Amino acid sequence: MPRKVYIHTFGCQMNESDSARMLESLVRDGWVGTDATAEADLILVNTCAIRDKAEQKLYSALGRYRSAKRARGTLLGVAGCVAQQEKGRLLARAPYVDFVLGPDNLAALPELVRAAASGKPSRVETAWMDSDSYAFPRADAEQARGRITAFVTAMKGCDNVCSFCVVPHTRGRETSRPYPDVVAEVRDLVGVGVREVTLIGQNVNSFAGGCDFPALLRRVGEVPGLRRLRFTTSHPHDFGAGLIRCFAELPVLCPHLHLPVQSGSDTVLARMRRDYTADAYEAAVAALHAATPHVALTSDVIVGFPGETEADFEATLRLVERVRYDNLYSFVYSSRPHTAARLHEEAWGVVPYEVQVERLERLQALQRSISRERMAAAVGTDVEVLVEGASRTDPDRLCGHTPQNRMVNFSGSAMPGALVSVRIDRASPVSLSGREIGLVEAAAPPAASSHVRLPVVA
Ligand code: SF4
Repeated sequence: MPRKVYIHTFGCQMNESDSARMLESLVRDGWVGTDATAEADLILVNTCAIRDKAEQKLYSALGRYRSAKRARGTLLGVAGCVAQQEKGRLLARAPYVDFVLGPDNLAALPELVRAAASGKPSRVETAWMDSDSYAFPRADAEQARGRITAFVTAMKGCDNVCSFCVVPHTRGRETSRPYPDVVAEVRDLVGVGVREVTLIGQNVNSFAGGCDFPALLRRVGEVPGLRRLRFTTSHPHDFGAGLIRCFAELPVLCPHLHLPVQSGSDTVLARMRRDYTADAYEAAVAALHAATPHVALTSDVIVGFPGETEADFEATLRLVERVRYDNLYSFVYSSRPHTAARLHEEAWGVVPYEVQVERLERLQALQRSISRERMAAAVGTDVEVLVEGASRTDPDRLCGHTPQNRMVNFSGSAMPGALVSVRIDRASPVSLSGREIGLVEAAAPPAASSHVRLPVVA
């Protein structure tokens, strides 16, 4: 019987993509994926280090999985940003872990698993690859057969030094993939039925893989059969006229942008080393709206950053009121190792936790009212939806996203991969609901398979 691997993924799209690549490499080595930890011969925890809470989640998860190891000899591996941040210290804290794998070392996974399975001592693989020799993991098109959406890595790492952020320490310096590789991977994925691709990177709009990011979008946008193109995560200081023109001129580029602002106060932005002002941020947003009025924006905000005064926080609330995001990912400041902010917390002034939480609640209440209002405006309209499959909330209904990346649950009969028109009759702050009223484009039958696909054992 093929051995089973369970991958527990924390964090961002980059981690989701890495988990998919890790599963694909193990499937090529004779493993199959499982959703049940109780059946797993290997449990791989792909970690996030962006906030302290994320790190604590790792150790409580490892505590749970330790019993599977005791009961069934299940192998345990830790990958991702906490693996890179902690390296061998992780084994000191959890000696029952079989291997620690950094984001630059995914290619070593099958060999690490074989070594662990043969009883070799625990290993740590967290060396940085230099940009010349780094081989970006590439989606296995055959294993992607039948998927409707996919992430494609355009670049990794980050050269910015935002004072609160651990990413440059856990993902390394910026390295961009040669654009022909990105285009080729998109072409292969579209060839097996993928209709929507999201280009990903910690700082994707600073791409420099033989062309700039707007040029990459145009080249990927020319791939025949690609219906939707998205990208994340962008930095405001790399968001310029070239990218705004792409939104206005590229029909395949979806009118949705995730543009983290983090704060509305210039004093706080300077301490965060974000390298832009609130006015410059809003000017870029205004220019985008002028070029593409129906674009939807989402963003990230940190509240309670060291030294943040009530007036600073008010500036953030005012900015959120003016920009009117579709949605906001907001968190209280979390002190991270190796970051400049941690060194200056006392000097800037630590914001008491209860004040941080009180501000977060006010911000989230404001955003909820804005999201509710923006989503309610869609009631009675017809929206285009890419069908992704059965609804997670009601298996008798279908679900998918609009070009603005709004989740829609609806009654209908279209196949996954089809583009349909849906009449919206209800809205919540986070999703829309309706019924299918017409087919815009049928699902494209994927090209004939040359490979027998191993089933993912549920
Ligand atoms: S841009 Fe800033 S917040 Fe984003 S990954 Fe880089 S250092 Fe972190």
